[in-house]
Amino acid sequence: MKQFQCIACAASLLAVLPVMHAADLGGVIVRLDGYDGPASVSAQLVEPFKMQITVNPANETKSLAIRVELPNSGSRAWPAADVEVRDAQGRALMVRRAGIEWSKLLISVPAVAGNYFVQAVHPAGGKPSLPSEKERVLADDTTGLRLGIAKWHDGRKAALSIRFDDSHPTHLTKAMPILREYGFRGTFMINPGASEPGGRRRSGFEAHQAEWQAAARQGDHEFANHSAHHRGAVGDDDMEAEIGEAAQAIWKLTPGKSKLMALNLGGGTRWETTRTLRYYLEKYHQFDASQNSTGMDDSYGNRVANFRRILEQHLSRGLWCRIHYHCIGDGGASSEANFRAALDVAKEHQSKLWIAGMADIHKYQSERSASKLKLQQSDSKRLTFEFICQTDAALFDQPLTLEVTHPQSLDASRLKVKDAQGNVIPLRTAPVEGGSVLRFDVAPRTAVYSIEMTR
Ligand SMILES: [Zn+2]
Repeated sequence: MKQFQCIACAASLLAVLPVMHAADLGGVIVRLDGYDGPASVSAQLVEPFKMQITVNPANETKSLAIRVELPNSGSRAWPAADVEVRDAQGRALMVRRAGIEWSKLLISVPAVAGNYFVQAVHPAGGKPSLPSEKERVLADDTTGLRLGIAKWHDGRKAALSIRFDDSHPTHLTKAMPILREYGFRGTFMINPGASEPGGRRRSGFEAHQAEWQAAARQGDHEFANHSAHHRGAVGDDDMEAEIGEAAQAIWKLTPGKSKLMALNLGGGTRWETTRTLRYYLEKYHQFDASQNSTGMDDSYGNRVANFRRILEQHLSRGLWCRIHYHCIGDGGASSEANFRAALDVAKEHQSKLWIAGMADIHKYQSERSASKLKLQQSDSKRLTFEFICQTDAALFDQPLTLEVTHPQSLDASRLKVKDAQGNVIPLRTAPVEGGSVLRFDVAPRTAVYSIEMTR
């Protein structure tokens, strides 16, 4: 399949914009796209995340294309998935974007004087307020125990996701079996749509459907949404079909599993819709997984050494490292030798690294942010606490790891964790700097647990 071509040439055009203009708009850039006629646009920020654009057509008669680039990182970043464009009458406009650059908008308007509004729409009911980091720690003087919610599963230092795009047949013949040799879980971004009449692309999924189904039944890898056909969409219905059909196909491949999945609309694609990306994400239980991933195709050069460097950076900062591949194997985008060499690097760091699917990692992060610990009661024999988790249990099912630190004078083998029904939860001891820590996993649901000190 055709791979994403970076539009770096378009980005270099920004350099000619007056610096003051960009600063006035909180980092937003507004200009007429590919235009040097008499018409002009001006813009002003009327509210945080609401910008008014005024078109002055002068004597232009042809329609105009307004290019808007929203900052997507740093303190002034816009929530690009929540952004829509409306005219002065409140009608939503069709906006074109590239699949993995949702913060860059192209808006087609007639050459008449008028105002348009680019705005972030706040989710219905507002954003839930999340507990503070402090509320995820419980230090109890009576027992001397200290509890915390591990930043990553099993107290690992960082997370790593290994993604494969475009349902290429080598994912079945090379990537999956090799990952299995290493015991690693991959995330497979598939295009499960049936071939379209007149479509230029032959679907790698359709041609090997039985193998994909078998891989899904094996259950050791994760599937994610790369749209039905990897061709973008023109209009709301088309976009909904491209996202919705792929989501339905993946749900069918993984019956009984959480419907939450990663979505990446694909490089080199164009999407036109009047709606926010959030509309599609919420309706189909998707999360946007387009950003911050390092491409591992050999053509980028020095991939293995580069991966070692970024992985070590992520380990030292405790972050989620994301990499992605296309076809694997000799003659493919990544040679088998380079693919294995990168997996060897991950293996070297395996004891500190949680290698998991993108949805697994997203779930852990979301659940942890929505969780806190609350002391109920403690005495010399027992500490009872409530684990409170606000995420939707039907979608968020990744267990969270709790950590218990105890006074060195206390023999760890005397500690027992029980749930509210009295079932014993298995505990494991792990060495940490200056002693050891006890860990156990809990379902991401509000529940009461107690830690007993037996004799
Ligand atoms: Zn792709």
